[in-house]
Amino acid sequence: MPQPIAISTISHINWDDLDTDKFADEEALIADLLASNPLSEGQRRSAVRLGRDLVEKARATGRKKGMMESFLEEFGLSNSEGLALMCLAEALLRVPDAATRDDLIAEKIRSGDWGAHKGQSDSWLVNASTWGLMLTGRVIGAPRALLKGPGKFVQGLIRESGEPVIRAAMMQAMRIMGEQFVLGRDVEAALKRGQRIVSSGQAAHFSFDMLGEGARTQADADRYFEAYSNAIDQVAKSKHPKAPPEQSSGVSVKLSALHPRYEAVNESRVMDELYPRLRTLCDRAAKINMHLCLDAEEADRLVISLKLLERLTAEPSLQGWDGLGLAVQAYQKRSTRVIQDLIKLARTSGMRLMIRLVKGAYWDSEIKHAQVSGYPNFPVFTNKQNTDLSYIANARAMLAGSPSIYPQFATHNAHTYSAIELLAADAGVGEYEFQRLHGMGEALFDAADAGGKVRIYAPVGAHEDLLPYLVRRLLENGANTSFVHAFLDPDVPVEHVVEDPIAKVEAGPRRHPRIPTPPRLYGPERSNSRGLDLSQLSARDAISNAMAEMRARPVIAAGAIVSGEALTASGEDVLSPGDGARIGTCLEASESVIHQALDAATDYQKDWDQLGGAKRASILRAMGDTLEENAPRLIALMAREAGKTLADGVDEVREAVDFCRYYATQAEADFEGPTRLPGPSGETNHLQLHGRGVFACISPWNFPLAIFTGQIAAALAAGNTVVAKPAEQTPLIAF
Ligand code: FAD
Repeated sequence: MPQPIAISTISHINWDDLDTDKFADEEALIADLLASNPLSEGQRRSAVRLGRDLVEKARATGRKKGMMESFLEEFGLSNSEGLALMCLAEALLRVPDAATRDDLIAEKIRSGDWGAHKGQSDSWLVNASTWGLMLTGRVIGAPRALLKGPGKFVQGLIRESGEPVIRAAMMQAMRIMGEQFVLGRDVEAALKRGQRIVSSGQAAHFSFDMLGEGARTQADADRYFEAYSNAIDQVAKSKHPKAPPEQSSGVSVKLSALHPRYEAVNESRVMDELYPRLRTLCDRAAKINMHLCLDAEEADRLVISLKLLERLTAEPSLQGWDGLGLAVQAYQKRSTRVIQDLIKLARTSGMRLMIRLVKGAYWDSEIKHAQVSGYPNFPVFTNKQNTDLSYIANARAMLAGSPSIYPQFATHNAHTYSAIELLAADAGVGEYEFQRLHGMGEALFDAADAGGKVRIYAPVGAHEDLLPYLVRRLLENGANTSFVHAFLDPDVPVEHVVEDPIAKVEAGPRRHPRIPTPPRLYGPERSNSRGLDLSQLSARDAISNAMAEMRARPVIAAGAIVSGEALTASGEDVLSPGDGARIGTCLEASESVIHQALDAATDYQKDWDQLGGAKRASILRAMGDTLEENAPRLIALMAREAGKTLADGVDEVREAVDFCRYYATQAEADFEGPTRLPGPSGETNHLQLHGRGVFACISPWNFPLAIFTGQIAAALAAGNTVVAKPAEQTPLIAF
């Protein structure tokens, strides 16, 4: 178990404490936020009025939409064509051989109704692409025999010239489309294009985001590190040395790009290996007092990112730099505390921090991840208006924390924008900025005539690295709760585009009624097995303690529990495959013990069968609950005996627990009492299922707990008794 390394802390903030709020009760939190009255009654009315004015003005100018917006409006992820395009964009440039590429194109293009999008967009590029796709679809879809007559000449020509032409054209089309979403393939190009945007008055500065995140290998991480280093050097060259960070362009860094194991569970590796790289980047940025923002990523990474930030603020070489920044996601339940703690950190460290408030870009995956992981609740709000309220409350706190922090508000939402302007005026704070994404929000900030206060977050890089970014934008803006979605749709009246989120929160419900919390994922049928959130120190400590206990008291497994023989430690040593240490003793069953076990199982089978499905179900449920209660010990044992990672261990215990609960439900449904069958009058027939006898269950070493338990639970549920044998490598877990 990696031990956290000692870091010189200066702020005395215990970041791990934030975890106590990670899965807080949404309704209670929202009640607190409402009670804090982030906007007065008058401000609420004004924010709505201002927001609506802006939307009307923006719509009236008939301003051309950004490429991103046009694409989203026409395709998005809500139709099969949009999905087909995303699949192509994702896969096409990576598929190594021509034949597979042809198959992929054929499958994806054939599946769409491209004609329905023909000429629909007000972007020529989107329309041109649609034409190309439609033509390709016809050519691919048409049998040769139909390609006759003058009207079919072009299609025939393409058809005859063969797949390579289509393939080359598609590859090129994907490249062109991909490049529309980035400001440049490299920083040099992005800086040049950015300069034109600044000259046009649309923005004051940029934050260049080097595409690339979630490094899977060290080679990826090295490549991204080089890209960030180069970006900082290039942006530095274009910066006036005396310009403060808030008045010049900077860069945004995704920490997950810098290390393939950027996870809380690897805290010491993160501190030993990722941190020095981050400090190198910060040293370069600090030399010229440039803005460098750490982007916010998944909720599980929040605490570790704060620890990294704090360590940077204590770095002697960085003293005097006031360009260090962090993004905070308002959709996280912990955001209010994070903002308070960051203000405290800025004050105690003496380093002014630039804080970018965002709503959060990973909402869908946070919801899924929490459900799949069996967390006790979600780390994020489930109602959009709750996030809006949290954003406004955090904005107010940030303005109050200025100038210790420099507030940066990233949003494309006219209401949010208006609320912030009102709050800033009320607080008498003039030093803050807005941020928008490249290709989005131009119309809003033009209508507000706020280009001079805007920093554009601009992705830079190659098409190959674009996809995660693009999919986040599509998910975010494809949602019908999204401001951009409503704003773009001329059929949505302005009163619906801009509403008072606080009024919506007040009207309730205070959490989304159709998003079950993770424990209730399976509804009334069974409760979801409980996960352990390894990003939390308390969960990791529980496993560490179980390991320590195991070291102090090795496990003894007896070959057949049923024998009733006293357990002694005179069996064979069981050694850990990781370090060869002895973790326990296994007493193998003798032949006579095996016979005893078989006899006992045979004798008892009738009684067990007669217990009925419902009674067996309650025993199985109790078995699941007991496994769940012992999760830390089982995970520790699986790590020691089977060499499992902790995360795999968590999943395995959960699967075992779920098997018990799942088969309990089956036992109740199928094995409780006879069912009457339909039949001719005068005759009654009943069907009743019974166990068949004694089952032998043998576990595989690679799923020593889950599959072992699953086999046993299924056989028991159906009224059988079981004689079980573990894999030779994992007797202690089976025991
Ligand atoms: P709105 O339409 O008002 O809000 C949409 C947002 O509401 C969603 O993105 C989601 O956060 C939230 N939401 C939607 N449905 C629900 C629901 N059912 N329950 C709860 N909340 C919901 N995001 C990051 O995560 N990390 C970053 O570092 C980051 N940097 C950014 C930098 C800039 C300059 C910008 C403009 C955005 C950045 N984002 C980042 C993305 C940002 O989170 C989204 O663009 C933002 O959430 C959209 O908010 P909005 O006010 O423009 O739109």
